[in-house]
Amino acid sequence: MTTPHQSSLDLAQRLKTNVQVCDVVLARDLSTSLREITLHGGAAALAGVPGNDVMVRVSDHSGSFTRRRYSVRSVDEQLDQFTLWICTVHDGVGSQWVRHAQPGDAVDVVGPRGKIPLDPDADWHLFMGDATGFSAFYRMAQSITPPGRAIFIVEIDHDDDARTAVFDEGLAVSAIFVSRLGRARNDPGGLLSGLAALALPPGTGHAYLFGEFSVINVLRTALVDRGMDDEQISRKAYWRIGRKNAENGEPEKEKS
Ligand SMILES: Cc1cc2nc3c(=O)[nH]c(=O)nc-3n(C[C@H](O)[C@H](O)[C@H](O)COP(=O)(O)OP(=O)(O)OC[C@H]3O[C@@H](n4cnc5c(N)ncnc54)[C@H](O)[C@@H]3O)c2cc1C
Repeated sequence: MTTPHQSSLDLAQRLKTNVQVCDVVLARDLSTSLREITLHGGAAALAGVPGNDVMVRVSDHSGSFTRRRYSVRSVDEQLDQFTLWICTVHDGVGSQWVRHAQPGDAVDVVGPRGKIPLDPDADWHLFMGDATGFSAFYRMAQSITPPGRAIFIVEIDHDDDARTAVFDEGLAVSAIFVSRLGRARNDPGGLLSGLAALALPPGTGHAYLFGEFSVINVLRTALVDRGMDDEQISRKAYWRIGRKNAENGEPEKEKS
């Protein structure tokens, strides 16, 4: 087995998590905006629970390295493989790596990361954001114990980005895919209109908001206005318009 770069070993030790060199075994386009990468190695140790992500050490064509975080879509422990769904609509070190990844490529992966698991006490689960959230949304929803309800409101750039998944027959599942129609990527208008079209179900709900920094914050306020408490809302900014994510794989939080 190849040894991870010393910086990956140090990072995993500091984060008290695992690290392994994984091999790309499959890289394929899922849609105009999404590419699927399947990695082999350390799957059970790296992939954690639904909602968790991994940090991948990626390099661009000039050979400079950084780390990017991607939620785990699915795990196959028997094959020792796990899969990521990654947006390639923009130009960044991560998206360049994803576009050019080929079977046989090796990458350092640190994981699991993330602090937003599924709320086991909720009667219904609302997953909202853009296509970067699909991976976490679907893995989390596939872990809901029936009977339960999963609602997805996801903004997409192209019709073929409306990816679907198979869920337990005991779950009630509904999805609203909102076409961006040329709106700016930090314009929350599309997702807000999707939310306005939704009657929140009875019982206790939990919302999971993953996507662009300012959009996520506006959605949180809209859900509070609709009567949800802060502890019923889990949110994570995955990226921020006009700024590359920091070395730790997260968007910068300070005001511009
Ligand atoms: C916990 C966590 C989990 C994540 N899981 C996923 C996942 O499962 N799938 C996934 O696709 N992404 C996921 N992301 C988001 C991903 O890590 C970021 O999009 C990251 O910025 C991509 O790195 P990059 O090098 O391609 O672009 P960067 O160098 O970070 O950014 C370059 C430019 O592209 C813009 N940009 C970045 N991402 C996008 C985007 N999605 N759409 C439009 N413009 C963008 C930036 O604003 C910047 O202007 C996750 C992020 C976090 C923090």
